[in-house]
Amino acid sequence: MKEQNRVHSNDVTKAAQEALERRGVTIEDIAEIVYEMQVPYNPGLKIEHCINSVKRVMMKREVQHSVLVGVELDELAEKKMLSYPLQKLVETDEGLFGVDETIALGSVLTYGSIALTTYGHLDKEKIGIIKKLDTNGVKVHTFLDDLVGSIAACAASRIAHRMRDLEEEGETFEAIPPVVNGEDEEIPEDDE
Ligand code: MG
Repeated sequence: MKEQNRVHSNDVTKAAQEALERRGVTIEDIAEIVYEMQVPYNPGLKIEHCINSVKRVMMKREVQHSVLVGVELDELAEKKMLSYPLQKLVETDEGLFGVDETIALGSVLTYGSIALTTYGHLDKEKIGIIKKLDTNGVKVHTFLDDLVGSIAACAASRIAHRMRDLEEEGETFEAIPPVVNGEDEEIPEDDE
């Protein structure tokens, strides 16, 4: 593809972040799920570590693309702009539809088995913001609930792997300053 036809990564990153915000989901909402999933296994873990992990996951192109596709379909369904029968399937969150789970699963697979099992758990238990999205009667969140579960699961997996590295160094998350603001204030990478 010619260079000038490419979409710049920054545009995709920004669009994915805005899509989540527009649909009422914040990084902090997702981080709260991650914290709940990981705090029993990670001494010293703070919500800020989880926020940072969610931000890292949100930098992945696969994740951004699935957010853009899923949120767009939710929004089109809400405006009744899809054609029959897809409109009905998405709008009613038809149990056997499954494409919402499949799209969200794509990015989970890049974060390994902990992400996969956490994703399955969240799909079943619907924790935090996922529960709110699931029980909102007016808006269509057929894709969004799975996307949020997927991002949370990936961020939880990152933390689990980071914890193992810390243990082997005789450390815990207490050793990592939980800074989140600013471009270069990040948890050192463990999985890329
Ligand atoms: Mg769904």
